[in-house]
Amino acid sequence: MTVKQRPEIMFSRLASVLIRAGYSDFFDSLVKVLSSILGTEYVLIADIAPGSQQAHTLAASSHGKIIPNFTYNLCGSPCETVPEREVCNYTDNVAELFPDDTVLTELGIQGYAGMPILTSEGRKLGLLCVMSQHSLALDDIDREILQIAAAQVGAVLETSHSQLQIRSLTYEDAVTGLPNRQHLRDWLTDTQDVHCLLLVDIQRFKEINDLYSHSTGDAVLYAVAQRLQSRVGDRGFVARLSSNEFALIPLDPWSDDLAVIADDIRLWFKQPIVCGKHEFHLDVTIGAASRSDIELSGVKSAGNELLRSASVALAEAKAKGAFIEVFNGTMVDSLKQRQGLIGKLQKALRNDQLELHYQPQLNLKTRELIGAEVLCRWHDDELGWVSPTTFIPLAEERGLIAELGNWVISRACRQLMEWDQQGASFLGKLSINISSKQLDDPEFVDKILNLIGDIPPSRLVLELTESAMMRSPEVNLAKMKALGTHGFIWAIDDFGTGYSSLAYLTRMDASILKVDRTFISRIPGSQHDESVIRTIIAMSDTMNMQLVAEGIETEAQSAYLVSAGCLHGQGF
Ligand code: C2E
Ligand code: CA
Ligand code: CA
Repeated sequence: MTVKQRPEIMFSRLASVLIRAGYSDFFDSLVKVLSSILGTEYVLIADIAPGSQQAHTLAASSHGKIIPNFTYNLCGSPCETVPEREVCNYTDNVAELFPDDTVLTELGIQGYAGMPILTSEGRKLGLLCVMSQHSLALDDIDREILQIAAAQVGAVLETSHSQLQIRSLTYEDAVTGLPNRQHLRDWLTDTQDVHCLLLVDIQRFKEINDLYSHSTGDAVLYAVAQRLQSRVGDRGFVARLSSNEFALIPLDPWSDDLAVIADDIRLWFKQPIVCGKHEFHLDVTIGAASRSDIELSGVKSAGNELLRSASVALAEAKAKGAFIEVFNGTMVDSLKQRQGLIGKLQKALRNDQLELHYQPQLNLKTRELIGAEVLCRWHDDELGWVSPTTFIPLAEERGLIAELGNWVISRACRQLMEWDQQGASFLGKLSINISSKQLDDPEFVDKILNLIGDIPPSRLVLELTESAMMRSPEVNLAKMKALGTHGFIWAIDDFGTGYSSLAYLTRMDASILKVDRTFISRIPGSQHDESVIRTIIAMSDTMNMQLVAEGIETEAQSAYLVSAGCLHGQGF
C-alpha cells in the first residue's frame, strides 16, 4: 500500500482532472488519478443500460495503465450489489465472497468498493469501482473522493446523452416518455379550445422510492404513464409535470363534467400497478380547474392560468385529504393576490420606487473591501418589505424581469457614477445578478453596453447561477464570451448546489465562483460541507478562479474559510 496523501492534496489532484470533464480523455484520466489517489490497482467506470445485466466499461486501468474496454456480467459480481446511492465497500476477501466472479480470483483481488453513477434525478447510469489486491477500507475522505468523481461522471454522461436528445430532453420526460411541463406550457399556449385541466397526484409516492429503490419508483411511474395514456387515448393530452404529478386535459368528445372524468380516473387506479414481483395499490388526489369557473371569478384565464388554478385546487385537496377539489371562487384569492402583486411591482418599477442595497464583499483576512453585490429591494406601502425571493421569480414568470434587470443595471451604474463625482469612488467591483430570462434576449449584449453608459465594464461583475447557465448552455456560453471580450467579469452564483455544470465550467468565461450559502451555514462542523468546500477551493485554485463565499454570519465561519484557503466573502 502506498502512503496516504493529505486530504488537500488528494482533493487538489482530483480537481485537476475534474476540470477536464467534457474532454475525450476525461474518463481515462479519472481512472488513473483515482488509482493513484486511493492506492488501488484496478479502477473502472462502467455504463449499464436500463434493465441490463451487463456492464460496459468506459475506462479501466490496471496498475495505473489504461487497459482496453470490456463487457462483463453483473450477475454474481460484487457490482451487482452496489446500492442506489452510497458507496458499497467489501474490505477483504471479496473474491471468496463472490466465487462466480472468476476474474476477482484471477486478479487476486481482496478489497472492493463500488459507487453508483447517477443522473441529477437519481437514475442509475452505471458504476465506478475500485479494487485492490490488498484490503481496502475506505475512510470518509476516500468516500467523498469517490462520490465527487461519480457525480462528475454522471454529469458528463447525462450531458452527452442530452446533446444527442436535446429536443426530447427539453420536451419529453425521460422516465415516462410523456410530454413534460415545458411541453404542456407551450401546448397550452398554442391550443385554443381547452376547457379544463386535471392534475393527478400519486399519494405517498416518495415511500416507494424510499422503501424500494429509485428504479422501482421509475418503473411505477412508467406504468402509471402507460395506464393514463392508454385509457385517455386520443380523447386528451397527458403530461408528467413533476415526480409524482401528471396533468390530463380532456378534449372533446369525452365529457365536460369534471366529476365524470375524475370517476373514470379513480376507476383506472383501482387495479394495482404491477412491477416485477411487487404490486402497488396507488391512491391519487386530483386538483381540477375549468375555464368557465375561473372566468366567473373575474380572473383572466389564459391556458397557463388553468394550470396554476388546478395547482391551487390540488394543494387544497391535499390539505383536506379529499379525492378531488375543483378550483372555485374562494380559492381565487391567491391568484388575485399574485396578479395584484405583479401590478404593484410594475408600478413600483416604473415609478422608480424600487431600491438597491449594496452588500459589501471583503477580504476575510485583511477585512479590506473588495466589492459589493447589488440586491434589489422593494417596499410597498400596504405590503411592507416584499422579499426578492417572492418578487424576482414572479417578475421572471410574468415577463417583467428584463425591465427590472435593466433598471437595476442602469441604477447601479448611476450610483457608481455619483460616488465618482462625489470623490468617493467605489474601488471594488460591483456585482449584479442577471436572470436567465435577461440572457434569453437576443439583443442582451448590445442592451447592457447601452445601459452602463460611461462605466467601464471591468468595474462590473455579472452573476449568473449555475442552473440558469445550464438552461441553454451553448447559447449562454456564447453570450458570456461576447460580454467577456468587452471586459465584463462573470461570476457563477450559488455554486455547489449541483455538480452538473462542472463539465461546462472550464468552457465558461467566468473568473469568480460564489459558493452557495447553504454550505457556509453548516461549517465548521459538517464534514460533508467542509469537504465540498475544500474541493471547490482546490478546484478554483486549479482553474485560477477567484472564490467568494456567501452568507457568512459568524467569525467561526470566516476563520474556517480563511484557514481552508478561501479569502473572499460576503454576508450578514
Ligand atoms: P443571491 O444572488 O444568492 O443573493 C444573496 C442573497 O443572500 C441575498 O438575499 C442576501 O440578502 C442573502 N444573504 C447575504 N448574506 C447573508 C447571510 O449572511 N445570511 C443569510 N441567511 N442570507 C444572506 P436577497 O436579497 O433576499 O435576494 C435573494 C435572491 O434574489 C438573490 O439571491 C438573487 O437570486 C435574487 N435577486 C436579488 N436582487 C436581484 C436583482 O437585482 N436581479 C435579479 N435577477 N435577481 C435578484
Ligand atoms: Ca447573487
Ligand atoms: Ca447566491
